[in-house]
Amino acid sequence: MRILLTNDDGIHAPGLAVLEKIARQFSDDIWICAPDEEQSGMGHALTLTRPVRLRKHGERRFSVTGTPTDAVTMGLRKVIEAQPDVILSGVNRGANLADDITYSGTVSAAIEGALAGVRSIAMSQVYTKETRNSHSAFAAATEWGAKVLGPLLDTPLPKRTLVNVNFPPIAPDAVKGIRAVRQGFHDYSRGTVVEGRDPRGFQYYWFGLEAIEHTLDHGTDLEAVDDGYIAVTPLQLDLTHHSSLGALAARYES
Ligand code: MN
Repeated sequence: MRILLTNDDGIHAPGLAVLEKIARQFSDDIWICAPDEEQSGMGHALTLTRPVRLRKHGERRFSVTGTPTDAVTMGLRKVIEAQPDVILSGVNRGANLADDITYSGTVSAAIEGALAGVRSIAMSQVYTKETRNSHSAFAAATEWGAKVLGPLLDTPLPKRTLVNVNFPPIAPDAVKGIRAVRQGFHDYSRGTVVEGRDPRGFQYYWFGLEAIEHTLDHGTDLEAVDDGYIAVTPLQLDLTHHSSLGALAARYES
């Protein structure tokens, strides 16, 4: 089984090493193609206005001067000669839950993989202020990764679907289990805008990611992680709101 690894935290991110450790429990045919720098929050961006460069860091290990989507594209077209069996993206430092998904470079790399017809899985390790800088920040993902990934490698998935996995920010032995759940939604628009002055005296703004309020709807990824479970959410690329189609069509027909 040939597996392509990528992420949005960059080729040197600790979470990528965790992902490699998880992947090597299933295969030795591991290829890495990741952005050369952190690309969190880049979503599904594709670099069109400048060239990207491919750098070789070792056997089957490459970085790209671009976005996570660029990294997958280069991984598929220039790094690996043949299509991989699986694309794994992560393990992201931080949650990709609820409406984080469309901002997420980690999930978007898996979206790019799904578009290319490859089984694709995004993995993220939720952190708290307390666990963020701890050396055991990725402990839950490290310990539980293979157990979560196993079934995702051979469960049939329709075309243009992918899977989003989030590990709770708790010790591995405190994790209660794995739940397949739907995507939740945060109640309020995200984060804060921090204002300041740069060293030359000009005003700047910087988007912050404060804890976002949410109601824990039953059966969601947010609730699962909050309850101490690993959240596994199948996602589809068809964003059409099918039940509104008829009403809209009727308006334009009249
Ligand atoms: Mn990230």
